[in-house]
Amino acid sequence: MSEIRLRFAPSPTGFLHIGGARTALFNWLLARKEKGKFILRIEDTDVARSTKESVDAILEGMTWLGLDWDEGPFYQSDNFPLYREYVEKLLAAGKAYKCYCTPEELERKREIAISEGRKPKYDGTCRNIKEDRPGAPFVVRFKAPLEGTTVFDDLIKGRICFQNEELDDLIIQRTDGTPTYNFTVVIDDVSMGITTVIRGDDHVNNTPRQILLYQALGCPVPKFAHVPMILGADKSRLSKRHGATSVMAYRDMGFLPEAMVNYLVRLGWSHGDEEIFTLDELIDKFSIEAVGRSAGVFNPDKLLWLNAHYIKTGDPQRLAGLLLPFLKERDVDVSGGPDLTAVVRTLQDRSRTLLEMADGAVFYYRSDFQYDAKSVAKFLTPSGREVCAELASRLETADELGHDAVAALFEGICAERGVKLKDVAQPVRFALTGGAPSPAIYDVIGVLGREESVRRIRRALAL
Ligand code: GLU
Repeated sequence: MSEIRLRFAPSPTGFLHIGGARTALFNWLLARKEKGKFILRIEDTDVARSTKESVDAILEGMTWLGLDWDEGPFYQSDNFPLYREYVEKLLAAGKAYKCYCTPEELERKREIAISEGRKPKYDGTCRNIKEDRPGAPFVVRFKAPLEGTTVFDDLIKGRICFQNEELDDLIIQRTDGTPTYNFTVVIDDVSMGITTVIRGDDHVNNTPRQILLYQALGCPVPKFAHVPMILGADKSRLSKRHGATSVMAYRDMGFLPEAMVNYLVRLGWSHGDEEIFTLDELIDKFSIEAVGRSAGVFNPDKLLWLNAHYIKTGDPQRLAGLLLPFLKERDVDVSGGPDLTAVVRTLQDRSRTLLEMADGAVFYYRSDFQYDAKSVAKFLTPSGREVCAELASRLETADELGHDAVAALFEGICAERGVKLKDVAQPVRFALTGGAPSPAIYDVIGVLGREESVRRIRRALAL
């Protein structure tokens, strides 16, 4: 069997959308599973709408998700001579023809068809013109069969049939000599040797036209898999109204790429009722036949749940690196403070996003925070002050500040004074954090270290 060749073919007119990312992921997974090739092609023939920024944004999004490509990126705008060549081929073979009908004429016929209740369709006026008309502007149309059916077995949707008489003689080259969309897709898929096309099901109606072009060119028709759309909670097509739709917006909101990948794959594909998959498991288990026929509904809570899972189980050192830009945004300089990896360990269980983690980490690095007067009165009561002072002096002489050792200091004070743990923990926590929500107090002390813990407690006591 020859190798499977798949491609992702975004039009660079915006960012990498959730739906596009999922299409890319399905292609990538199948390529990796089948040890084939994954090709990236930028469909930038619409010069007016395509931008370099968008290309960069798409590449950045793919890279962030870890969807590496084996060939490309290829740009359709580099292929104009190739498209020309194929137009000439089809013309020479009598499988395409020059159409001289003016836009006005076509519009007039369209209106008549509509007023007579017929579906507007090119009427074939120029289909059999033999001679060229030098100097006259023309488009090139594909000579589509007038009868019969075009059928394909979609790997997701099953058998799909189109009546050829419903299909127009497609324009493949415009008056200005530029090729049209359906034509460029076919020529590229042919010249790149694409064997399987996985794309959004908004392209189903293009497929019969494309199949007829393959047949006219005498080229093997690839397999097709049309992936159902992604909907918002209200069952309308996913859009900005439902929240961020750009993959990179999720990075900026503190999501991990592995959570995003795991979430995207489950938007359509399933494997029993399993929810959590490593990348290797996905490569092993993925199959396009297991992609469902109904649209996936975007569920931000589930994405958040997965993200929390990956943060909880992630490598603290890697998370520390990913956290840095978020801390920078908060003007936190970690260089003089506690070890960031140690900080991360205390926050993994309680952060659903890196953004939450960054918020939770701030207090470790701000030793000059202001204590709020009302809370001072509440927590630093005379007895609160006494236990704080007591703890500070015991911390100064403690041998070590591991979790158990710190716990023993707290328990010792409780036993000697006959007070509850919370009577010690609350004032101490307030002195150390200024009241910010914080991880377990023993861990906080361990991470802040002896000197800084004592310093913060004494500063609070001086108020
Ligand atoms: N460029 C098309 C799009 O972004 C994809 C075409 C295809 O996959 O065949 O929707």
